[in-house]
Amino acid sequence: MDRKEIHSRTLANGQSLTSPVFFFKGSSTGPKIYIQASMHGAEVQGNAVIFELIKYLEKNPPLSDITIAPLINPYATNLKLGEYSFGRFEPTSGRNYNRYYFKPNHEQEMMIEQFASQHKNKEWSELKSLFKSFIINLAQADQKGEYTHKINHQAFCLAFASDICLDMHTASHSARHLYTQDYLEEESKSFGIKNIILSPVIKTGDLEGAFVYPWLRLQQELQKLSVKAPLECSSYTLEFGSQERFSLESAKEDLQGVLNFLALKKAIDKNYSSPKEEFHINTFENYISIYTPYAGLVDYKVSPGQKVMKGEVLAEIINFHHLQTNTKEASQLLISEYEGVIINALDSSIAHEGVEVFRLLKS
Ligand SMILES: [Zn+2]
Repeated sequence: MDRKEIHSRTLANGQSLTSPVFFFKGSSTGPKIYIQASMHGAEVQGNAVIFELIKYLEKNPPLSDITIAPLINPYATNLKLGEYSFGRFEPTSGRNYNRYYFKPNHEQEMMIEQFASQHKNKEWSELKSLFKSFIINLAQADQKGEYTHKINHQAFCLAFASDICLDMHTASHSARHLYTQDYLEEESKSFGIKNIILSPVIKTGDLEGAFVYPWLRLQQELQKLSVKAPLECSSYTLEFGSQERFSLESAKEDLQGVLNFLALKKAIDKNYSSPKEEFHINTFENYISIYTPYAGLVDYKVSPGQKVMKGEVLAEIINFHHLQTNTKEASQLLISEYEGVIINALDSSIAHEGVEVFRLLKS
């Protein structure tokens, strides 16, 4: 295993924050893998999974090249407010650290069109490698300005040199789930993560979509020129439970899913086993935010991972300003309008009106 330290951010006092990147050289020519964690600083279970993965790869060298960036945004990891880690947003701009990955602008879209026309007759393997360098150069040239933009572009350039990208996150108080592109529905099951949220390839700004988008555009441009090109890349946002939680014991289970995926992709020498889980799969439009119309102190009646029916009580919310003659008046019930699985809940029992208290994946 090789290691490189990359510069992440210079702080106001002049000191430099760096983050380690680990490289495993593959013994064969499988697809190259990129894995990162902690772009959102409070989301650390991916670090536990990576720690177990590195231990595994030291004993079992991979077939593919694997690049691992466990602490891709050290500034966010260090953002503490009291006991709490405030790692999702850049404090000076309010920007979400997972929304500013490389997105070709109009001019760059035209350059992709020109690239396709210039290289359409090349062998796919050569064309692929040229395209990786071409896109990385575009993203590198764009690596300036606001910090969220810079850190996202830096991670994108590391990722895009690979063929497969795993971006490890967690949600607030959450069941394990994953996001991926709709064309990857079948292979996404190999992780053994029961809750799967599918999106079409669009420019959303997160790494999972940003990683696939240029390949989709290349494919579209080549198709216009009557050249068939496969969409070989895979990209996932893996949500390993709840923020602020780090468990090596749970990571051993999470790792089995990651290894099974790597076995499917022939990146490691291991037998692939078909998942036996009962999956709960739906599209992003059916991943519903439930905002409370009531403000107050929330008693959660359901937990992440739990199936709920339409009409079921999700929470009881207490507001003392409504208490007049009996305690019933101070209590409001939040009722589910949908049947589905609760994936995520607000990690607090203190809620203003209009706050997202649950996310539910419809059945
Ligand atoms: Zn996240």
